[in-house]
Amino acid sequence: MKVLGIESSCDETGVALYDSARGLLGHRVHSQIDLHAAYGGVVPELASRDHIRRLPLLVRETLAEAGCALSEIDALAYTAGPGLAGALLVGAGAAEALALALDVPALPIHHLEGHLLSPLLAADAPDFPFVALLVSGGHTQLMRVTGVGEYELLGESLDDAAGEAFDKTAKLLGLGYPGGPQLAALAATGSAGRFRLPRPMLNSGDLDFSFSGLKTAVLNVVSAPGWQAADAADLAADFQQAVVEVLVRKALAALRSTGLQRLVVAGGVGANRELRAQLDRAAARRGWRVYYPEAELCTDNGAMIAFAGALRLAAGAGGSREGRIAIRPRWPLAELMRP
Ligand code: ATP
Ligand code: MG
Ligand code: FE
Repeated sequence: MKVLGIESSCDETGVALYDSARGLLGHRVHSQIDLHAAYGGVVPELASRDHIRRLPLLVRETLAEAGCALSEIDALAYTAGPGLAGALLVGAGAAEALALALDVPALPIHHLEGHLLSPLLAADAPDFPFVALLVSGGHTQLMRVTGVGEYELLGESLDDAAGEAFDKTAKLLGLGYPGGPQLAALAATGSAGRFRLPRPMLNSGDLDFSFSGLKTAVLNVVSAPGWQAADAADLAADFQQAVVEVLVRKALAALRSTGLQRLVVAGGVGANRELRAQLDRAAARRGWRVYYPEAELCTDNGAMIAFAGALRLAAGAGGSREGRIAIRPRWPLAELMRP
C-alpha cells in the first residue's frame, strides 16, 4: 500500500509517500518561517496562500524521489485538524481532489495522532502499549497509547504549551522567530541555577502542566533593574532546565502510574537535546526506555500523516471516495475514532 500524506495545518507544507511494505519512499517539507518571521508569528492568510503555492511542486518532488507515478498511489492521507482552518482546507482540498481523480480513498488524519505515531517510523520502533509525551508548539500532553486510535489522556498543560513557552521566552530574550531552537542553542552556552525560576506544578500530584508562570518569571528577571544582556545565556539555561525538569518528572510519574516501561516522545520540543539527555538518563536508571522520532520528523511533516494513514488503512479504515472536504480546526484527540 502506497499512501501519499499531506500536512498543511500551520506553517509547514509537508508531503510524503509511505509504502507499508518498503517504508518511507520520499518526503519533502517546506517551512514558511521566513514568510512569517517579519510578523513574529504565523499570519493565517499568508500561510494558506503559501500552501497553495508549494503543494503541487512538493507532490511532484516527493513522487520523483520515490520513483513513483501518481497512478501508483493507493490512498491519500491529509491533516484534517486541529490547525488553522484556511491552511487545513488547502491540504484537504488537494488530497480529496487527488483521491477523486485517482479513484482511491482519502483519509482525514488527526495532526496529533501523526506526531504521536511518528516514533514508530524509526528503525528501532516501540511496541504498544506505551506512554506518549507530546510536546509541541500547541500541545503538552501525556497519553496512554494502547493501539492505533486508542489514546487515553493522562494529563496536559492547563495554559501554554511547552513549545509556546520556549517561543515566548525566546522573544523576551530578543531571539528570532521561532525561538525554541534558538533558545535551546543559547542555553547550551550558559549554566543553569542562577535565577531560581519556579517549577510550575512539579508537586501537584497529577499529570497536568502549567508553563505560563515560567514565562512571566523570565519577564520579571529581564525587566528588573540591573539586568544585563550578558546574562541571557544563563537565564536561557535556567528556563530550559525548569521546563525539562517538570517534563521529566511528570513523564516518569505517568510511567509509574500506568505500570508501563516505554515512553515515546513526539512533537517539536522532543528535538530538545537537554530534554532527551535527562529523559534517557532517568529512564535508564529504572530500566525503562525512551523512543524518539527521527530528528527531522519531530516538527510538522507529511511522513507522519502518510504513516498514520497507512496504519489506519491496515487496521480496516476505509476512508472516503466522495471528495468531501472534512476539516476540523478544533478537534480534541479524545474524540478521535478507532479505525
Ligand atoms: P501542534 O503540533 O501542537 O499543532 P506545532 O505543529 O506548531 O504545534 P511542532 O511543529 O511539533 O508544533 O513543534 C514546533 C515547536 O517546537 C515550536 O514551539 C518550537 O519552538 C519547538 N522546538 C523545536 N525545536 C526545539 C528545541 N530544540 N528545543 C525546544 N523547543 C523546540
Ligand atoms: Mg510549525
Ligand atoms: Fe505539529
